[in-house]
Amino acid sequence: MPNRSRTIVVAGAGIGGLTAALALAEAGFRVVVLDQAERLEQTGAGLQLSPNAARILLALRLRERLEPTIVAPTARKFCGCRSVNRPSAAMAPPIG
Ligand SMILES: Cc1cc2nc3c(=O)[nH]c(=O)nc-3n(C[C@H](O)[C@H](O)[C@H](O)COP(=O)(O)OP(=O)(O)OC[C@H]3O[C@@H](n4cnc5c(N)ncnc54)[C@H](O)[C@@H]3O)c2cc1C
Repeated sequence: MPNRSRTIVVAGAGIGGLTAALALAEAGFRVVVLDQAERLEQTGAGLQLSPNAARILLALRLRERLEPTIVAPTARKFCGCRSVNRPSAAMAPPIG
């Protein structure tokens, strides 16, 4: 049985650290998140999360917070460098 009276320090406030911190808080732990950066800023165009990662965020009850900013793909295409202009149906399986 874990001792939930202890404080857990998570180093790093990226998606990994924040998700771990939320999961630990959900489990009843007191969590402190520390980051070496003076300011947290957006890097890149956004985070592309796999379905299993997205399911974890939904399980942490973040659906409402995320919905205004998410973009869900409707299809995916796999193209080789020679087939980029003629992808076959087999290479564009439906999502879901
Ligand atoms: C320039 C760039 C563009 C990107 N663009 C995209 C994109 O468009 N789409 C996409 O899906 N992914 C993109 N990525 C990748 C994506 O950012 C990472 O896969 C994802 O953010 C990793 O999350 P993370 O929580 O593991 O690490 P990070 O987001 O890197 O978080 C780690 C955090 O830990 C902190 N830290 C590190 N060491 C310490 C320490 N000793 N003490 C305290 N804090 C510490 C760091 O300051 C940082 O805030 C990009 C990455 C970069 C660098």
